[in-house]
Amino acid sequence: MNLQERDKAVNWHPYTQMKTADDAIPIVKGKGVYLFDDKGNKYIDAVSSWWVTLHGHAHPYIAQRVSEQLHTLEQVIFAGFTHEPAIQLSENLLKLLPQNQQKVFYSDNGSTAVEVALKMCIQHAYNQGKEKTKILAFKNAYHGDTFGAMSVSGRSVWTKPFGEMLFEVIFIDTPTSENIEDIKAQISAYQDEVVCFIYEPLIQGAAGMLMYNAEDLDNLMKFCRANDILMIQDEVFTGFGRTGKLFAANYLSEKPDIMCFSKGLTGGTMPMGITTCSNEIYNAFLSDDKYKTLFHGHSFTANPLACTAALASMELLLNDETQQSIQRISGQHFSFSKVLREHSKVENVRQTGTILAWEIKNDHKTSYFNEIGKKLYDEFLSRGIVMRPLGNVMYLVPPYCVSTEELNFIYKNILQVLDSF
Ligand SMILES: *Cc1c(COP(=O)(O)O)cnc(C)c1O
Repeated sequence: MNLQERDKAVNWHPYTQMKTADDAIPIVKGKGVYLFDDKGNKYIDAVSSWWVTLHGHAHPYIAQRVSEQLHTLEQVIFAGFTHEPAIQLSENLLKLLPQNQQKVFYSDNGSTAVEVALKMCIQHAYNQGKEKTKILAFKNAYHGDTFGAMSVSGRSVWTKPFGEMLFEVIFIDTPTSENIEDIKAQISAYQDEVVCFIYEPLIQGAAGMLMYNAEDLDNLMKFCRANDILMIQDEVFTGFGRTGKLFAANYLSEKPDIMCFSKGLTGGTMPMGITTCSNEIYNAFLSDDKYKTLFHGHSFTANPLACTAALASMELLLNDETQQSIQRISGQHFSFSKVLREHSKVENVRQTGTILAWEIKNDHKTSYFNEIGKKLYDEFLSRGIVMRPLGNVMYLVPPYCVSTEELNFIYKNILQVLDSF
């Protein structure tokens, strides 16, 4: 049996209708922006393998550091024990975050980072004897696929079978200068019952790269602060340079209470999640009363290999070369966005840093099942480019090692595909 037949016999793929899906393409090697399949074809990974890869595939420096760590200490229980990679990573990360972020809690992925954040907020109120249980989130939000994360995500075809079991959330629109007063009135109707507000800052990724202004978010955050509503800033996607700055937080003057990270955290090499919080949150769990403990943990909490990968990736991220690449990609996207805006088949072109998105003009209603997405996906694959449209929304989220020429190659193909459609 070949790899595809063996795969089909045993593997169940994510977000995939296995009955109708094409066979998965076996990838045998990755190098820089390229993925290589078993037939010798190569593909530019224009979506950073679901938005995680920062410095390209199989980066030699990260590989070397992880390999050394693997020979030194691969894993240790993180209750009652600690290790250098976790200490160093927490120190390095906190230095880059808003000053009020003071403590780091480790978990395994973006969804768990969100679960931890929600539990911190709810128990923060509980430990102080406050009866606050309502949570605010944006319509169309995406915070992950576990139950708590699903609950604070927009209701959609993804969450439908579980609808009855998801906890109730107050959904608000993303803020604009026009609707901000209505949103504040909607929140005020719940008086003191709202415990926290969770949001993807500046960009709602999975919703289709929907973007909104930092100024309007600041305005909403100010309102939450004044009304004693804790803020969870989910930077799982926006973190580590995607927006053109290190974090979306760098565009905001207001500070969240809690932040969530994953995806680019390890440069896309290993699964890990981080939830950071202020001392104000942390201190509410300090007590002689055991019931006030944060009873949460995962077997692989603060895995030394993943911490080491994150340390190596952050070193690469902060060096001049990578910072210049991020600015170059942002600049190239900006120029190309002007070309796209002129195209008759394109609408709603939008960009934040290295993230560029646009929509194919479409007379039918946008939906995840929109046939056009699949056609585009296949067409780009045949041209050696991995793009993954969300319905009729197309986007680029390339690794930072993508060269000027490689980006131009992607742009050229996009225009050719648009023209031929
Ligand atoms: C991807 C994503 C998550 C979930 O992360 P997983 O690692 O896939 O569980 C949460 N929040 C945002 C904003 C994301 O983009």
